[in-house]
Amino acid sequence: MSAHYDLLIRNGTCVLPWGSEATDVGVRNGRIADLGVPAAATADEVIDAAGLHVLPGLIDPHVHLRDPGDKAVETIPTGTKAAILGGLTAVFDMPNTSPSIVDAERLAWKQDYVEREAWCDMGLYVGGTKTNIPALADLELGRGVCGIKIFAGSSTGDLMVEDDEHLEKVMRAGRRRIAYHSEDEYRLQARKPLFKSGDPYTCHMEWRDEECAFLGTRRLMALARKTARPAHILHVSTAQELDYLKDYRDIATCEVLVNHLTQVAPDCYETLKGFGVMNPPIRGQAHQDAAWKAINDGTVDTVGSDHAPHPRAKKLLPWPDCPAGLTGVQTLVPVMLNHVNAGRLSLTRMVDLLCAGPARVYGVVGKGRLAAGYDADFTLVDMKHQRRIEESWIVSPCGWTPFAGMDITGWPVATIIRGRTVMREDAVLGAPMGKLVKFAG
Ligand SMILES: [Zn+2]
Repeated sequence: MSAHYDLLIRNGTCVLPWGSEATDVGVRNGRIADLGVPAAATADEVIDAAGLHVLPGLIDPHVHLRDPGDKAVETIPTGTKAAILGGLTAVFDMPNTSPSIVDAERLAWKQDYVEREAWCDMGLYVGGTKTNIPALADLELGRGVCGIKIFAGSSTGDLMVEDDEHLEKVMRAGRRRIAYHSEDEYRLQARKPLFKSGDPYTCHMEWRDEECAFLGTRRLMALARKTARPAHILHVSTAQELDYLKDYRDIATCEVLVNHLTQVAPDCYETLKGFGVMNPPIRGQAHQDAAWKAINDGTVDTVGSDHAPHPRAKKLLPWPDCPAGLTGVQTLVPVMLNHVNAGRLSLTRMVDLLCAGPARVYGVVGKGRLAAGYDADFTLVDMKHQRRIEESWIVSPCGWTPFAGMDITGWPVATIIRGRTVMREDAVLGAPMGKLVKFAG
């Protein structure tokens, strides 16, 4: 009797950790049972992936789903639906909601909510504050918690730990890798009076200049070495930091955002105005070139969207009244596939940045590679499919994307989570079945 599976993915090109191979994948009980399946094998469901690449389920390790918060902008149900439409099987969600996720009670609320309403799997960051430091060692071990997030410089929300004394205390509480928003708050505040309402949108990158980011990262690296506490520098935006961080591989990993790889100043501020304003800012061509070099020499560990939507009406305000943050969870994979097709990185490296990278940085258990025994999470992509990003496709209630009108080659055509197809050709299937991602404590 030949083998029987719950799901068989036939005829695709699988992007395996050791290279791409034309091989069939057999799934049983939500996990990858076999790579390489006999022709006679049967299954309850067979997907013909001829002409498609079968990737491990892609992970966006940096989203702000704004829940609890403004339902007219985003929620966990809408943001995770956007994720699966965009070819993601898991997202890691930031804690600077309203209220923020900073204690056991709010974390428990979010854990329950995710398991009822999320369309994809989720990891949860817990926010560190000056007052919850004694609780952080326990909180970082909570179910589904990918790590502690520290805002060392101010952005959206009220979470902040900006001084060395408290940062060191945070680093000495607990032991897992901490994710940082690295901009020096003192320099940000000192430079604020140099600008006024109605100044050009390009002033965003002049206010939050390269030194704000680089100084923040130098301070964090000194403290991380002193305390031997692993750090993950989120959304690195300067050539200086990317060069500097190469000397801190013992203690630090880092992320680059798709926006910093795709959009460039001053063009983004002229064409997008408030819809190009994010923290840290989109900068000039030299920084984008450095980001691509760092993608291709291995400096960068993860790529995220930093999906951080705001109401359209607020983004239309003059600078600096327009809030910083851009919609992005649904467009991350198409934009990255387009970069692959343009020859800026290989598909293997893209998978490394969106699967193995987040798994390694945050200690994900059972996800991040196509291998027997791993969760049966897959993103099926058609590398030849051409499509324009339209705002009508965006399901986040905010309804806008800074990538509107961009012509893309390469598109996610199916999203499969733990063996269940949740998206096929733009159709969302079934009911929300997202679970909390497991992390090695
Ligand atoms: Zn963010």
